[in-house]
Amino acid sequence: MPYPGAGRFAPSPTGALHRGSLLTAVASWLDARAAGLAWQLRFDDLDSARNVPGAEASICRALEAHALFWDGAIVRQSLRTEQYAHSLATLAKLGLTYCCTCSRLALAGATVYPGTCRARELADIEAAIRFRCPNDMITFEDQCRGPQRINVAAENGDFVVRRRDGVFAYALATAVDDGAAEITRVVRGRDLLQLTGIQLALMDALGLKRPSYAHLPLVVNSTAQKLSKQTHAQPLGDNEALSNLRWTLRALGQPTAETPVRTPEELLSIAVSLWNPDLIPGSDITLAST
Ligand SMILES: [Zn+2]
Repeated sequence: MPYPGAGRFAPSPTGALHRGSLLTAVASWLDARAAGLAWQLRFDDLDSARNVPGAEASICRALEAHALFWDGAIVRQSLRTEQYAHSLATLAKLGLTYCCTCSRLALAGATVYPGTCRARELADIEAAIRFRCPNDMITFEDQCRGPQRINVAAENGDFVVRRRDGVFAYALATAVDDGAAEITRVVRGRDLLQLTGIQLALMDALGLKRPSYAHLPLVVNSTAQKLSKQTHAQPLGDNEALSNLRWTLRALGQPTAETPVRTPEELLSIAVSLWNPDLIPGSDITLAST
């Protein structure tokens, strides 16, 4: 049966699933299933230095243990570099990229790239490639955060789409992948909200169809840090899937089933029928207090 669109979950294989990444997976899965959309699993594994051996398998096992089954083949960004190179060539043909040889030191402390190499016409030798950012307001409606207006040129400046070491930037890869997979719905953490402006600028330039967005609150620890490997987030116990899912549904403000449930599948199928994104809290979720 063809789906009318697709959602996706796109973790980096840098560690096991934890409460924060589970919250994103559950919200994105429910959002897709409630709308009758496909749900794709994609590994953002371009930065190979950060990938942890075994993390991908552990994330897949955890998703399956929590009955978060995906559709179709798993997509790996590391296997799609030809597509990114192709899109980069398209941007270059449009005159929308240039080479940059500024050192990290030269840009230290600058939050907005000052455009140093914009008119230098440097050759692509040991250079990063930047996107010539349009000085336009990118606007979109975020389901969790309301209307958004991001002036990428003013807030980021021309951003890097391919690093000096040849690694494609997350924003380019994500824009290309969301476009290629005809993703219609992106549900992810609010820490990626700023990046959405950059991705939309790229999608617009490449003529790709924009998905709609919902940026979720983050799960934070008692010192308000986002749960991550760096903040020593605890991996989830796959044997506690049912209680992990109950915690996640509560954190997402969703009503819980009246009837007793015995399996993650049952809990999720009821949660799909009750799914109401308007109930997702606006503020971050502190792990200790929930
Ligand atoms: Zn430069």
